[in-house]
Amino acid sequence: MNLFNPANSIEKDTKESKYFVINSHEILSFKNENFLRPLSSDELNWSGLEIKRKHFLGYLNEASCFAVATEGECVLDQAIFTDLRSMLGRIPDDLFSVISRAIQIQHWFEAHKFCGYCGNELVEDSKERAMICNHCDAPPAYPKISPCVITLIHRKNEILLAHNVNFPENFYSTLAGFIEPGESVEAALEREVLEEVGIKVKNIKYFGSQSWPFPSQLMLGYYAEYSSGEITPDLEEIDKADWFKIDNLPNTPPANISISGKLIENYVKENA
Ligand SMILES: [Zn+2]
Repeated sequence: MNLFNPANSIEKDTKESKYFVINSHEILSFKNENFLRPLSSDELNWSGLEIKRKHFLGYLNEASCFAVATEGECVLDQAIFTDLRSMLGRIPDDLFSVISRAIQIQHWFEAHKFCGYCGNELVEDSKERAMICNHCDAPPAYPKISPCVITLIHRKNEILLAHNVNFPENFYSTLAGFIEPGESVEAALEREVLEEVGIKVKNIKYFGSQSWPFPSQLMLGYYAEYSSGEITPDLEEIDKADWFKIDNLPNTPPANISISGKLIENYVKENA
């Protein structure tokens, strides 16, 4: 079992260091391997890739980990750059947070080259992970995450699941939405549920959270009990929603991939 401890202060490369190689928004994997893994320093040296930038991420067990932004073709046998989303299910649980961090740190760095206040070039702060402007009083630009609330609504042995307009047929999930500036998580949850399916909920209970790097969400998972109202999908995001008996569910996200699946699996287990 790998244990990941995030850290920001720069560490040197060593023989044991591990490298998560990113090319634009894609991550390097191997076609002949079932699971995504970092490259060793030897593999990186022989990859033929041009290294644009390394970001220290923290420690996986004792080993320093880096996100490595590269250009060009990788000549390692069976290596391929793939969109991270299509790798879901092939990312080991214990590597998910470091890979999520690698992608988000690299994305943040690419997106903060210039000051949003005065337009001049930003430089890296020497003390902490931030981009700073030496031309004006702009606050440091830290890596940003976007909190989202994700909710499983229940009514005894039934749960409310919704079909997003972009989902495949007969695939349903929990409700989710971004938390607006100034809003509490609980207020966002009640607003999203009312907007998307037209019902009111009560007894909101926290379940757990998950980093979701598409591009930078932090999913905050909650249970909420049905209170009142008739299901009325908003027809913009949600085209269908219904109560499902927990012993007769449609296709839902797998629990090993997303917190949505974990919310459902855990509710079913506890109420079966
Ligand atoms: Zn500035």
